[in-house]
Amino acid sequence: MKVIVIGAGFSGAAAARTLADAGHEVVILEGRDRIGGRTHTDSSLGPDIDLGGSWIHGPHGNPLVPIAKAAGATWKWTDFKNVFGNSVMAFDADGTELDAAEYTQGINNYDGAMAMLTGSIVDAKPDDSVQSMTDLYGTGLLEQSADEPYSTQKGFQYTSNIRFQYENAASLEDSAYGVGSYIKLPGGDNLVCGGGFRKVLTHILQGLDIQLGTAVREIKYDSSGVTLLTDKGDFSADACVVTAPLGVLQSGNLKFSPQLPQSKQNAIGRIGMGNYEKIALKFPEIFWPKEPHRLNYLSDHEPPLYNAWLNFAHFTGDPVLVCYHGGPMAEYTNQMDDEDLIAGCVETLKKMFGPDVPDPISYVRTRWSADEFSQGSYSYTKVGQQAGDREEMAKPVGNKLFFAGEATHPNFYGTVHGAYESGIRAAREILG
Ligand SMILES: Cc1cc2nc3c(=O)[nH]c(=O)nc-3n(C[C@H](O)[C@H](O)[C@H](O)COP(=O)(O)OP(=O)(O)OC[C@H]3O[C@@H](n4cnc5c(N)ncnc54)[C@H](O)[C@@H]3O)c2cc1C
Repeated sequence: MKVIVIGAGFSGAAAARTLADAGHEVVILEGRDRIGGRTHTDSSLGPDIDLGGSWIHGPHGNPLVPIAKAAGATWKWTDFKNVFGNSVMAFDADGTELDAAEYTQGINNYDGAMAMLTGSIVDAKPDDSVQSMTDLYGTGLLEQSADEPYSTQKGFQYTSNIRFQYENAASLEDSAYGVGSYIKLPGGDNLVCGGGFRKVLTHILQGLDIQLGTAVREIKYDSSGVTLLTDKGDFSADACVVTAPLGVLQSGNLKFSPQLPQSKQNAIGRIGMGNYEKIALKFPEIFWPKEPHRLNYLSDHEPPLYNAWLNFAHFTGDPVLVCYHGGPMAEYTNQMDDEDLIAGCVETLKKMFGPDVPDPISYVRTRWSADEFSQGSYSYTKVGQQAGDREEMAKPVGNKLFFAGEATHPNFYGTVHGAYESGIRAAREILG
């Protein structure tokens, strides 16, 4: 059987590898001039920096770990929650360094209160009027047992507002409370800083037929097979695995003929596609402490900006800092030109480390939401989304079209391992 896989990201690679290993003829059509999709390892600043997916979220039971080991990629644990007390340096809006213990207590209070609310320990679930995270915070339930309101604590403020929005890649208003089915694998967050995800993906794709720079514009299908109309001519096959991201499917730029079933279109429309952008800055030397994994800044700008920094010096010894923006913060910075964004970064670093902070000597920046082949960063559970929407999105059509990609995974959506598993699932559907 001949199968065309659209997309050379992790889901496409997993589908193609599985089908090729089972003896089928497989061609991967990739719109970009590179492999990786929403993983993109950039080495132009020196170290391998992943501008898209960069952490293995939970190595235990994670299908990527044995592959990453075989590929020779290496990773280092990142302590987002300051478990060891010295991994996060936190700063107030004016640049004052916050007390680490107090700050960490605020983080723990948020995580603890959320666990109580969403878990089975305490039956404190809000009623049906609580749809979004904004609604949830409005109930005051999160701080109900506190003598001093948690929301006055800096670590609580940072986690509930800034960290939540950039991790979920969406605003508090759009983020659904309580209906997501995301499962976090155990073992913490591990930055793939040796070789990056490119090394892992290259290992999976070895020997496969990949046609880069081949954007699919339309997919025609009937009982006899599929024909894909691309910028480089038409391609026909017995079946097709579509791994185009949720944002691409939502945009309507990839046409299906006949149109996809209405139930699938509705599901695709209801799932949230988030925004999450990075800027990596290389400085002439390391002027900040090497020990912390993260620098957290509590900006008083609306929306809060320059709040989340990854200290590459800790991980690789290079004079590089990566600043992150998610949700409304990413949308805001995407309107800024490079010069203004960098100036804002440097101004913030000056507040934290003093007036002698130099300008960066080079940088790389992402615009995932403006990229025609991603149109966003990763999916999230949006207000109005219905249980089963991801399964509906994943369903094959006419035994000819098969769907993979992070957004189709019921539990590991928004991740690289979720994408990988979804590709294997789609390939197995074809293999019967
Ligand atoms: C900034 C950012 C940070 C992230 N951080 C993490 C993290 O730390 N850990 C983690 O696990 N996950 C993270 N993620 C999510 C993770 O990167 C994605 O879930 C995963 O890479 C998605 O893989 P995929 O195969 O589903 O989609 P993609 O990687 O997007 O692959 C789809 C492919 O299809 C191609 N394509 C699209 N349309 C067409 C077309 N019309 N014709 C031909 N080709 C087309 C695209 O170019 C792309 O290569 C992050 C993502 C972003 C953007």
